[in-house]
Amino acid sequence: MPALTKPPTTFESISIFDVLIIGAGPAGLSAALALSRVNRTVAVFSSAKYRNARASHAHSILSRDHTSPDEIRRIGREQIEVYGTTQFVDKAVLEARRVDTGLFEVTDADGETWRGRKVILATGVDDVMMDIEGYSDCWGFDIWQCLVCDGIERADREAGTLGPVNMGMLMNVFTMLSLGCPRVTIFSNGPIDRGDKQASPAIAIAKAQGVDVEERKIRKLIHLEDEEGIDVVFEDDAVRRVGFLAVKPVCKLANTKIAEDLGVTIVDDPKAGPMLQISQPMCETTVPGVFSAGDACTNTKQFSQAMAQGGLVGAAVNYQLCMDQISTVQKSL
Ligand SMILES: Cc1cc2nc3c(=O)[nH]c(=O)nc-3n(C[C@H](O)[C@H](O)[C@H](O)COP(=O)(O)OP(=O)(O)OC[C@H]3O[C@@H](n4cnc5c(N)ncnc54)[C@H](O)[C@@H]3O)c2cc1C
Repeated sequence: MPALTKPPTTFESISIFDVLIIGAGPAGLSAALALSRVNRTVAVFSSAKYRNARASHAHSILSRDHTSPDEIRRIGREQIEVYGTTQFVDKAVLEARRVDTGLFEVTDADGETWRGRKVILATGVDDVMMDIEGYSDCWGFDIWQCLVCDGIERADREAGTLGPVNMGMLMNVFTMLSLGCPRVTIFSNGPIDRGDKQASPAIAIAKAQGVDVEERKIRKLIHLEDEEGIDVVFEDDAVRRVGFLAVKPVCKLANTKIAEDLGVTIVDDPKAGPMLQISQPMCETTVPGVFSAGDACTNTKQFSQAMAQGGLVGAAVNYQLCMDQISTVQKSL
């Protein structure tokens, strides 16, 4: 990594960065880019655990459609480094605290401490795997959470949805029909409760479009090599081959410890699961000076959304740093 042209300030030989960013996915990197462009000193930490680690290509990202996520992050880092104010620390952050000087301090996996005036939590989420044998082998390769992100490349194959049968699931069904998949199946993985207010109309609408409803319990899913898709094996040993499955994943925060250390409120969104609570439009958490961006704090969990929010948070943090400086100068007058 090139040397910083603007290193952080020091106090009693401790480096003090303007901003500590935890997470170097699209959210954290976009925030770092915005802050670099106003000469703020930044340390970006990453444990290199990215939500889309299984994706060979990322999609629906303007000018980077069908580019590998690794490549997008590599270009991002390279462009940030040009400004000479951001230091990348490829280590996990284990703890965080506010110190009595009004600064924030984090400790990395090697026990080193880092100080900053502001913190951005861009730590992302983990997808919870369904309790079906082989599910995690298929996740990200042929089980997809978003048909805008993945799907069209295998539109010539049979496809299906897996999980609770409800009106929301119909979005995936109708997207598969729009893609032109030759056969679309709803895999309910067990009998559907016909009395359920959501399930009955959803099935009726799907069947009216020629969609199959498969209620047999699934014994296992087999990930096939060479992008062949998945063999769905039922409890009676019958097998159905599909090119891909779509699910609405349950997500959990990739890291709660740092947010909890800092006292950030975590809310449980009925649709998106646990999220860091932020205020709009600045994306500041419930703790002044601690911000968040990306999947960790939004229910629209997409690469481009994480990028956009990261850029916005970078600008918001710069705004707050300016306000702090103005207030200090004003007090001294
Ligand atoms: C299989 C799959 C494919 C996808 N494909 C697409 C697609 O094609 N297009 C699209 O728009 N979206 C896609 N998505 C969604 C997209 O990946 C996410 O919305 C996006 O990555 C969120 O960015 P983020 O920066 O919030 O989090 P992430 O990209 O997950 O980055 C999180 C960062 O936080 C770091 N971190 C976490 N805890 C710590 C810690 N304690 N210390 C240090 N670092 C830490 C991680 O190491 C990482 O650097 C896909 C998702 C999946 C699961």
